[in-house]
Amino acid sequence: MLIHTCCADCFLKLYQSLSEEMQAAVQIFFYNPNIYPREEHQARLLAIKKVVKSLNRDIKIIVANYQPQDYFQTIKKLKANPENRDSSKNRGRQNRDAKNRENCENKSADDRFTIISRQKRCPLCWELRLRALFEKAQAEKIPLVSSTLFSSNYQDLDKVKLIAQKLSEEYQIDFYVPKIDQAMRDHSHRGFYKQNYCGCLYSLLEKSREKYDV
Ligand code: SF4
Repeated sequence: MLIHTCCADCFLKLYQSLSEEMQAAVQIFFYNPNIYPREEHQARLLAIKKVVKSLNRDIKIIVANYQPQDYFQTIKKLKANPENRDSSKNRGRQNRDAKNRENCENKSADDRFTIISRQKRCPLCWELRLRALFEKAQAEKIPLVSSTLFSSNYQDLDKVKLIAQKLSEEYQIDFYVPKIDQAMRDHSHRGFYKQNYCGCLYSLLEKSREKYDV
């Protein structure tokens, strides 16, 4: 089974939920062009390697080149439509920015950078990565795939399943949805690097806006 993996914690949750037989057949596919910046991409990969080593199993890790342009190209088309922008936290800020502009000749960073809403960008991000997974499985002749998107607390599982179902029919490759209860999902493993945002530049900005209330 080829498992698309985006971080160590979610991999461990998925892996521990598998039977011995399934664990023995696991290979990891690390393709995450959404992750920003490069250092974060590297930190997550190193954490996965550390976890795999600690399991003392011969688990192959297939690492795709880091190509953030794959992600940015995918969501580029969303930018043109103002309806795709995240308006929830932006309105107050836009009013403040308008006032700032009255007093300041320089434009704020927010005027130049627009956050695409999660509802719009995430499905494209999931499909981008899952499609690469199915393609890789097809090329490697691996009959079953899964993804840590199924063990993550950040993702909409029902929507991820729908995309996986569509791709499964397209590529004629089965996908496995792990059985992970909420306690297991919420459990926090220790001893390796763990991120505090989903992965993309937008989620990083959302996190810092939440933290600093800006
Ligand atoms: S929030 Fe997560 S799933 Fe959504 S686009 Fe960003 S990295 Fe992808």
